[in-house]
Amino acid sequence: AERRKKAADVIEEVDRAFATPTPMLRDIADAMVEEMERGLRADPHAPIKMLISYVDNLPTGDEHGLFYALDLGGTNFRVIRVQLGGKEKRVVQQYEEVAIPPHLMVGTSIELFDFIAAELERFVATEGDDFYLPEGRQRELGFTFSFPVNQTSISSGTLIKWTKGFSINGTVGDDVVAELSRAMERQGLDMKVTALVNDTVGTLAGGIYDDKDVVAAVILGTGTNAAYVEHANAIPKWNGLLPRSGNMVINMEWGNFKSDKLPHSEYDRALDFESLNPGEQIYEKMISGMYLGEIVRRILLKLAHDASLFGDVVPPKLEHLFALRTPDMSAMHHDTSHDLRFMLSKLKDILGVADISLEARYITLHICDKVAERGARLAAAGIYGILKKLGRDRVPSDGSPKKRTVVAVDGGLFEHYKKFSSCVEATLADLLGKEAASSVVVKMANDGSGIGAALLAASHSQYA
Ligand code: ADP
Ligand code: MG
Repeated sequence: AERRKKAADVIEEVDRAFATPTPMLRDIADAMVEEMERGLRADPHAPIKMLISYVDNLPTGDEHGLFYALDLGGTNFRVIRVQLGGKEKRVVQQYEEVAIPPHLMVGTSIELFDFIAAELERFVATEGDDFYLPEGRQRELGFTFSFPVNQTSISSGTLIKWTKGFSINGTVGDDVVAELSRAMERQGLDMKVTALVNDTVGTLAGGIYDDKDVVAAVILGTGTNAAYVEHANAIPKWNGLLPRSGNMVINMEWGNFKSDKLPHSEYDRALDFESLNPGEQIYEKMISGMYLGEIVRRILLKLAHDASLFGDVVPPKLEHLFALRTPDMSAMHHDTSHDLRFMLSKLKDILGVADISLEARYITLHICDKVAERGARLAAAGIYGILKKLGRDRVPSDGSPKKRTVVAVDGGLFEHYKKFSSCVEATLADLLGKEAASSVVVKMANDGSGIGAALLAASHSQYA
């Protein structure tokens, strides 16, 4: 009875700390809009960098030719090859996914880039007859690099910081295209990087290629980020020429958003403190796939300590950072069996214990629910903020026709965690209200970022 009471206390506290009532989400969206404006002014204290992508023209569909793309972002990287055939033929594409050996994520820059260049070279060697490079031309590549970069042109930029579990000495401040190009040279691979893009920007480009009404792209994967099309004259810090299109794609780097409106709990504070990048990426740490399972682990650990949730001893494995991964959390959360038997076998595995009471399983389910729901609702508030910034959050009051608005979403978290993605969609609809929601579409843009980077490589080709 004493244990029950203690468990109930912890749960009650979690329910309180993780609640995200709709008015709170509206405040968060407003704070997001304010921070977007600060970032666009280059306020030095702005947490959201609102990086200029140098992409002022998005794909038209007329792109032609053979292009490669390389997507480096989280736990895997991808090499992609596309043959673009204009409006009629569109694309032929092939890709391969390669897991990044964990030691390379915390090793040296040279080792990481040499590994990538070697994999790329291997992939290029498998180019078949569906692909065609005109005589005398160099192969060209779009490099999707999903970390914050200060772009200096469409094909160059310096790393601001590593995120998402990467921590490599000496790369910050370096031009990542130069790093990759040197590695390709060492590999003997003759290829030119003609576009350096963030995955959000690639997803936006790939999304628009598919559907011209895409206005923003959001990544919900290992990390989280967003990009959208901004009017160039709404970017005070842009002092170059006004692009002919009048537009500029902004890579928000919204993962670094913070606000006193965010429901930052004691668990979030501890997670942040023990992370590779304390004080940074606060919003990302409440939302994205790298962290959701870890938040759940911390709450379960508290319940194990205070209320002996998993028996008299705290399972030692539960003490390990990142012992509970988000795909496992998602699998447990989707267990619909009445006795939660899938959750049971997962949890026994993860915790290394012989048995777990039905009550403990139901409590675990409840915690997964709270953590996933909060993450999804906070992500929806961010999307709603972007739509507000663009004036796409309401139907026109002057009687002009409703514009269709599409948000392209990519990332393994959104793709595979159904309860999470449905909650993002439902919450966004709720924030928009019935009428406005009827013209807003959230679209899964599976691997749009790879095709997008290839498209941008094409539109910035040295031969174009
Ligand atoms: P990245 O963000 O690293 O470029 P992805 O977009 O493929 O790569 O996302 C991978 C992330 O998605 C994983 O780190 C994990 O957090 C999350 N994820 C993958 N599969 C699942 C799943 N079944 N359920 C929940 N989250 C998942
Ligand atoms: Mg990715």
